[in-house]
Amino acid sequence: MRRFDWVPALTLTRPSGRRYERNLLSLPVSRASPAPPRVSIMIGTPETDRCECGASAGPLGVCVDYYHAVLAEEQGDPLMYRWHAPVVCAYLLQHPARAHQKYLDGQFRQLQLFLDLGLDAMLRLAAHQVTRNKRGGPGFDVAPLAAYAPLPPGGPPPRFRATFRDLPAGDGGFVSDGHPAYGRRIEAIAAATVESWLALR
Ligand SMILES: [Zn+2]
Repeated sequence: MRRFDWVPALTLTRPSGRRYERNLLSLPVSRASPAPPRVSIMIGTPETDRCECGASAGPLGVCVDYYHAVLAEEQGDPLMYRWHAPVVCAYLLQHPARAHQKYLDGQFRQLQLFLDLGLDAMLRLAAHQVTRNKRGGPGFDVAPLAAYAPLPPGGPPPRFRATFRDLPAGDGGFVSDGHPAYGRRIEAIAAATVESWLALR
């Protein structure tokens, strides 16, 4: 056995300090022993690049990064904020681990109403609920949503045709090519969400 005649092939991604290096070099290593495989140590926890909805990460990260960026941008853009409700419903239905399970059925029905009757109808329904609550009405009025399909059991679906990670986020933000184009993309995500959930039936 000899000491110090072979340096282990250990790659550190940041300077480890003299003490650590000395410990490595002081390991007794036999000349005859085969070199161990090269090891790379990553400092910190590597982020997963696969989202709960099945999508791979985009330039901004996974869907939650896109979602938070959308929520931040719409705060300063009242026109973009009009799509807030379908954005929230679609995001939670594509990532139900982040949602309150008891609200998912209502959010699923709201998304169907949005696709069926349009954004204005969804906004009118939201305004109706707010007015009702201010007047002390009994909870959420489920009557306007009764005609729509309930949330199928057995979810979440493994993948969706369109996801938040697919949203283009250029220098001009999410509405760089106009609010109608942004609205069509949110509608495509909403449609993909309902489609995949309904396929579980
Ligand atoms: Zn996702």
